[in-house]
Amino acid sequence: MSNGKILKVSGPLVVAENMRDANMFDVVRVSEHRLIGEIIEMHGDKASVQVYEETSGLGTGEPVESTGAPLSVELGPGLLGSIFDGIQRPLEEIRKVTGNNLARGIEIPALDREKKWHFVPSISANSKVEAGDVLGTVQETSVVLHKVLLPPDVSGTIEELFEGDYTITDTIGIIINERGEKTALTLMQKWPVRKGRPYKKKLAPDLPLITGQRVIDALFPIAKGGVAAIPGPFGSGKTVTQHQLAKWAQADIVVYIGCGERGNEMTDVLTEFPQLIDPNTGKSLMERTVLIANTSDMPVAAREASIYTGVTIAEYFRDMGYSVALMADSTSRWAEALREMSGRLEEMPGEEGYPAYLGSRLAQFYERAGRVITLQGKETEGSLSIIGAVSPPGGDISEPVSQATLRIVKVFWGLDSALAYKRHFPAINWLTSYSLYADSLGDWFDKNVSGDWTNLRARFMALLSDEAALEEIVKLVGMDALSAPDRLKMETARSIREDFLHQLAYHEVDTYTTLKKQNYLMKLIIEYYDRALEALSAGADIEELASLPVRESIGRFKYVRQEDIDIELEKIQQQLVREIANSVNKREEQ
Ligand code: ADP
Repeated sequence: MSNGKILKVSGPLVVAENMRDANMFDVVRVSEHRLIGEIIEMHGDKASVQVYEETSGLGTGEPVESTGAPLSVELGPGLLGSIFDGIQRPLEEIRKVTGNNLARGIEIPALDREKKWHFVPSISANSKVEAGDVLGTVQETSVVLHKVLLPPDVSGTIEELFEGDYTITDTIGIIINERGEKTALTLMQKWPVRKGRPYKKKLAPDLPLITGQRVIDALFPIAKGGVAAIPGPFGSGKTVTQHQLAKWAQADIVVYIGCGERGNEMTDVLTEFPQLIDPNTGKSLMERTVLIANTSDMPVAAREASIYTGVTIAEYFRDMGYSVALMADSTSRWAEALREMSGRLEEMPGEEGYPAYLGSRLAQFYERAGRVITLQGKETEGSLSIIGAVSPPGGDISEPVSQATLRIVKVFWGLDSALAYKRHFPAINWLTSYSLYADSLGDWFDKNVSGDWTNLRARFMALLSDEAALEEIVKLVGMDALSAPDRLKMETARSIREDFLHQLAYHEVDTYTTLKKQNYLMKLIIEYYDRALEALSAGADIEELASLPVRESIGRFKYVRQEDIDIELEKIQQQLVREIANSVNKREEQ
């Protein structure tokens, strides 16, 4: 045990001497208050400690003691529905003890030690088990079955394992390893946050994470286990988009990390999230959610740790074989914490004062995403998809954090305040957004939804970019200067924007669109374009084609209930053929 002493205090950074026995990344206790910190740099016997609590009033000579263990999280039943701070302290429990202000040095375990969980073994005594195998289950919430996993560093033969009601530290069974050593099994395990949890194999990102949000699924899809970034200029609909994803994305578990936005915004998350209803179950979304929140009264250092805390919890559920979606909001605030610590460490600053390792740290975080074969004995797939929000000052994504993020992520959903101002929601700009998964996922969509999926997508993208180019011409010389086929392109692109991309989060039907329905709607819009184009060359009038009643019907298709889409598709297709034929005939009669 080291007998460290404080040498210097600089905000959240404490330098301690006489720390020869401590190791890099050890958790330490600072001063009589026993503040929690982590060693982030060692020079000889001097340790630089990032302290996760308010350091005011600390002075030189006060004791610093290493716990000899790295910063770790507790993993087990009780995670879901909880709200933790950046180092996994349970906020509710702390509030109960200390009121609204975090008292310093408080020691409350992350997971409830009293609560009993009903454990049902899924293997019997004498079974040989390996790291990551499922020992049994606990019905953690009404919607999530918690698989109790053998920790990644344990294997052997089960000596006993009993069904029963246990706290997370009670012995649920005994395992004997090859050397005959016995270890007690519990519902809880620990894992160091800065180390990714192991898995057997990473899989290619060739399954989509379906979201029911048309602009995402059809144009800029994210893969299961994929990584996406979303910038959030104020009022652009970032919160609504994140809530939609949390509610509707094909994820069994949601981990939401709030890295402390402006002022009391985090409090909004704390009050809003628990009110969200899971549309699939009708229950609170919190039954499958873990919230990590850095409220503004917490020092910045805790933000730095929070994304590791969150991603480790997310990996744990991935290891059970679940599809997990992690949202970090915002990674810019996290990077600012990194910058502040780097400044205090007097490191050589890089661009805009961010440390040179900003990019590699961000990459290390996003690398923990993926669709994997878990350690479990039988082939089990789990996935962890990461959606990181960035909040560039002034919305200018040329700044370092946005740029570093864009080099890593494969999907960019460019929220655009100009679109939000025009009340086009979700305000995801179709010209600046992209998905590098679109090609690899194309096969899946073609096979599983409809053979024309990638083709329709390509035609949508082409029409939208043609529209942008034509708009420039219209600005210069007016709409009348456009040829009839170009006018038709503009009309069709408008339909893509208004009838397809525009999607109301608050509309009972529109809030979620199945892939089949998305495909039908794409078909209808492109069919209108193709038939109208033919009609044009047969002499039909563009004004007339632009104002056919069938366009109204196409516009209303998104509000058609799922059970009626087949009938409705056929009806609209017939209407289209009829009206187009009429418009050609009219011409011929004249
Ligand atoms: P931000 O978090 O970016 O500041 P919000 O997500 O709170 O912005 O969105 C601002 C407002 O925009 C919302 O209150 C809502 O009225 C509207 N809005 C955003 N997205 C949608 C959507 N998909 N459907 C309907 N309205 C939306």
